[in-house]
Amino acid sequence: MGKPTGFLQFDREVAADRPADERIRDWDEFHAGLDETSLRQQGARCMDCGTPFCHLGQALPPGGPAAGCPLGNYIPEWNDLVYRGLWREALERLHQTSNFPEFTGRVCPAPCEGSCVLGAQAPAVTIKSIECAIVDRGFAEGWIVPEPPPRRTGRNVAVVGSGPAGLACAAQLNRAGHRVTVYERADRPGGLLMYGIPSMKLEKRLVQRRVDLLAAEGVRFATHTEVGVQVTADQLRAQYDAVVLCVGATRPRDLAVPGRDLAGIHQAIEFLHGNTRHLLDGAVGSPPVSAHGRQVVILGGGDTGTDCVATAIRHGCSSVAQFDIIPAPLAQRAADNPWPQWPRVARTDYGQEEAIAVFGADPRQYLLSTVRFSGDAAGRVSQVHTVRVEWGPGPDGRPFREVPGSEQAFSADLVLLSMGWLGPESPLLEQFGVARDRRSNVEAEFGRFATNVPGVFAAGDARRGASLVVWALAEGRGAAREVDHYLMGNTDLP
Ligand SMILES: Cc1cc2nc3c(=O)[nH]c(=O)nc-3n(C[C@H](O)[C@H](O)[C@H](O)COP(=O)(O)OP(=O)(O)OC[C@H]3O[C@@H](n4cnc5c(N)ncnc54)[C@H](O)[C@@H]3O)c2cc1C
Ligand code: SF4
Repeated sequence: MGKPTGFLQFDREVAADRPADERIRDWDEFHAGLDETSLRQQGARCMDCGTPFCHLGQALPPGGPAAGCPLGNYIPEWNDLVYRGLWREALERLHQTSNFPEFTGRVCPAPCEGSCVLGAQAPAVTIKSIECAIVDRGFAEGWIVPEPPPRRTGRNVAVVGSGPAGLACAAQLNRAGHRVTVYERADRPGGLLMYGIPSMKLEKRLVQRRVDLLAAEGVRFATHTEVGVQVTADQLRAQYDAVVLCVGATRPRDLAVPGRDLAGIHQAIEFLHGNTRHLLDGAVGSPPVSAHGRQVVILGGGDTGTDCVATAIRHGCSSVAQFDIIPAPLAQRAADNPWPQWPRVARTDYGQEEAIAVFGADPRQYLLSTVRFSGDAAGRVSQVHTVRVEWGPGPDGRPFREVPGSEQAFSADLVLLSMGWLGPESPLLEQFGVARDRRSNVEAEFGRFATNVPGVFAAGDARRGASLVVWALAEGRGAAREVDHYLMGNTDLP
C-alpha cells in the first residue's frame, strides 16, 4: 500500500458517461475513462485492508449471498501497482485471476465495490474503472499478445458454447496444453457477450479481439454448429477425451395470457440479438424487429429490460415504458442486506437515463402484472392490460394479490418480454444423458463441475442458472481446472 492516507485525501471519482442525448445517436460505447492522474489517485484510496472483502468472492454469512469478486481478483495489489504507475505489473496481476478483464471492466455490476471495506462508511474504491483502465492500457501498449502453450499434452477437449464460460474454459485448457475445440451454434463466437449485451455497453470488436487472440493461441472455433443437431453427443464423446457444456440458460420465460399470439410481441433476446446481428452485418435496411415509431412496452424491470429500453430509443421509438411486478427497490440497504453483501438498492441505469433525457420521465413502473393483450383489426398488439398487485400470499397460492378495480390499459404496438430465463434449451443435454437440477439446469456441484456422465462437465449459466459474466468466467476457469485434473491426474491451473 503506497499511500496510507489516500482514502482520506481523495474523494471517489467515477468517469462520467457520454451525455445521454449525445450517445443515443450512435451504437458506440457510452463509458468514458478517467485520466491517469485520477486513476492513480483512485488506486491510492485502497486501504490494503487486513481482510479485503472485495476479493473474497465467498458467501457471507455462509450459505448467504456471495460478497466480493467471484474471480478472487487481487484488487488491493493492482490498486497499489496503479497508484505507483506500474501498469504492466498490474496487468500481469489482473490476468492471473481473470482471462478477460476488458469484459468485466465494462459490464460487471462490481460486487467487489459493494463489499469494499472503505465502502462500509465512505464511497467505495472505483475498482471496476481501474480494472478496465489496466487492461485497456495493456492492449494499447501492445502488451497483450498471443501466448500459445509451450507444449501439447495430446488430449482433446470439446467446449460446447462460446459465451464467457466457454471462452474462459477454453483459454485455461489451451494454456494447460490440451487441444480445445469450441462449438458454437451462432455465426459468431461470444455467446451473450456478442449477441445479448448491446454494443453501447460492450463493443463487439472487443469480443472479436479476444476470440482472435484465443485462435492465435491454438483454440479452434466451429461456428454454425449446434451440438445435438449437426454433431451428436456420441460423436463428440468418441472424438474427445472430455466435453464441457457451457451452453448458457437461454430458454426465455414466456407469458401465457390471452392475446400473446398477436403480432408485435417478441422475446427481448430476439429483439437484442437481431439488432446486434443487423449492425454487425452492415446495418442495411431495418433490423428484424424494429422499434422505430413504435409505442414500446417492456415487461420486466431487470438489466435485459434496460438494454431493450436503450435499444428501442436508438431505433427512434415514439414512447417506451418498462413494467415490473415487484416493488421498487429501496433507496438504502435494508436491514437484511448489510455490507459486505451486494447492495440491493435503487439505481438509474443507462437506459432509464436515456429515456429521461428523451421523454422526460423514468420509464419504470412497479407492481404491475400483465393480464392480457388486445390487438387491432390487422392482428397486431395495440394495448397491454395490467392490474396492480400487492405482495403477500394470494388466495390462489401466488406470492402476490391482485388489487380489485386496479385494471389499466396502456397503448403499445411493440411488446418485449424480458421476464427471466428457464435454463438450458439444447437437445444435446438429453443426448448426453446429463441429470438436471430442480431448476432444470445441468446438475454439477460447484467447484467440481462434473456431471453424472464421466468426462462431461458443465459451467456457467447452464449450471448455475442465468447469472453474470463474472460468474461465467469464474465457472469456466474452475471447470478447466477440474478437466485438467481429470485428464492428467493433477493440475497446475488456478
Ligand atoms: C441481454 C442481456 C444482457 C446482459 N447484461 C449483462 C451485464 O451487463 N453484465 C453481466 O455481468 N451479465 C449480463 N448478462 C448475463 C451474462 O451475459 C450471462 O450470465 C453470461 O453470458 C453467461 O455466460 P455463459 O457462457 O454461461 O452462457 P452464454 O453467454 O449464454 O453462452 C452460451 C452459448 O452457448 C451456445 N449454445 C447453446 N447450445 C448450443 C449447442 N447445442 N451447440 C453449440 N452452441 C450452443 C449459445 O449459442 C451461446 O452462444 C446479460 C444477459 C442478457 C441476456
Ligand atoms: S470482475 Fe467484477 S467483481 Fe471482480 S474486480 Fe472486476 S468489477 Fe469487481
